[in-house]
Amino acid sequence: MTSKMPLPGELDPIETASRDEISALQLERLKWSVRHTYDNVEPYRQKCLAKGVHPDDLKCLADLGQFPFMTKADLRDHYPFGLFAVPRHKLARLHASSGTTGKPVVVGYTRNDLDNWAAVVARSIRAAGGRAGDMVHVAYGYGMFTGGLGAHYGVERLGACVVPMSGGQTEKQVQQIMDFKPDIIMVTPSYSLVIAEEFERLGIQPEEISLKVGIFGAEPWGEGMRSEIERKLGIDAIDIYGLTEVMGPGVACECIETKDGPVIWEDHFYPEIIDPETGEVLPDGEEGELVFTSLTKEAFPVIRYRTRDLTRLLPPTARSFRRIGKITGRSDDMLIIRGVNVFPTQIEEQILRDPRLSGNYQVVVTREGHLDNLEVRCEVQRELSGKLPPADIQAIGKELQHRIKTIIGVSTQITVMEFDAIPRTQVGKAKRVLDERPKQN
Ligand code: ADP
Repeated sequence: MTSKMPLPGELDPIETASRDEISALQLERLKWSVRHTYDNVEPYRQKCLAKGVHPDDLKCLADLGQFPFMTKADLRDHYPFGLFAVPRHKLARLHASSGTTGKPVVVGYTRNDLDNWAAVVARSIRAAGGRAGDMVHVAYGYGMFTGGLGAHYGVERLGACVVPMSGGQTEKQVQQIMDFKPDIIMVTPSYSLVIAEEFERLGIQPEEISLKVGIFGAEPWGEGMRSEIERKLGIDAIDIYGLTEVMGPGVACECIETKDGPVIWEDHFYPEIIDPETGEVLPDGEEGELVFTSLTKEAFPVIRYRTRDLTRLLPPTARSFRRIGKITGRSDDMLIIRGVNVFPTQIEEQILRDPRLSGNYQVVVTREGHLDNLEVRCEVQRELSGKLPPADIQAIGKELQHRIKTIIGVSTQITVMEFDAIPRTQVGKAKRVLDERPKQN
């Protein structure tokens, strides 16, 4: 796809600085961030003490490898605010994302944090080809998710005009795009194809759509999907990466002139790749688990946060910062369904709340068109098996579907089966997830 956008204009000086300048800034900020966390986040200080490391041990960037990791389990154990490094009155906003159980992951931001976040999202949109004066249609979900509001303030910071549409209501999305003629759309890649199909249904050709660029993230997508989106909407499709624990969208974003993997905004987020089994730091280029340390965050600093995303670090191209390759998978069992993070344990928790159901279940993920479908198969208890009238079985399914939707936020299809219908695993862990989606390329 040839770009309809001009080449990048003014960049932040650090985006094209020398590697030495970047490393020097990172080391200075890293020392501050580790010290700030050690001094203000008691559970992390305890981890450091247990490992026998102290912020003074940090003399060069590689010394970070001696420090303990933070994981999603730490967030769960200290829910909701136990890992915050500032008192409550210094907070300016909260966001949340899925935890591994019913409790979400809660993160906080100070005014400065929100300022930095807006700046890196603005930088991301600029890297994608956006400029002041553009109009940006934001179809990421607003609310506790970081997507909508994260994108929103980045657009404003760039000096562009934001259309805060949020997700859903496909017909209205299309109507507004036709009426307002935005230059850019920010949305999950899977939903962009749903929007594209609505254009097709209405007989609207890609040339008639005002959009020039789409900035897509929150779920894995491959080159095949990129070509399809570009063709159907007549745009350049750009990959943006982020996660709530580290900040939200805008931790890394591709540049339109290269489209070769998201550039990590390394002046705010220090990346490492580790072996997910041993925790050992791997050299650039090797595939492993992505780990981030925040360099400027005040309210919710993260030191060596294990993202569970599997990828590799690539050398700089369009900017002086390193890039991440495509996310090839996860080292935990988190599923991303229509941009919503779902853990099988969360579903299990909802099944177990109904005493009529046995704890045995299976989650089946399939793809219908462009959207993922989640089927939950569960069983009634042995003593009820074969005894419940169909209306009761249906009611059990409906109740479970409703609980999962309201608590986890994802739509499911529920299949309530007789006892013992789901195969038991004879050896090792039960196979809870059958992922039947085609592999991304
Ligand atoms: P977001 O709202 O940005 O998706 P979440 O915290 O809900 O934030 O989810 C973060 C996870 O989403 C990441 O750890 C990763 O697995 C996935 N993700 C986000 N952006 C991308 C992307 N561009 N490509 C692949 N996976 C992504």
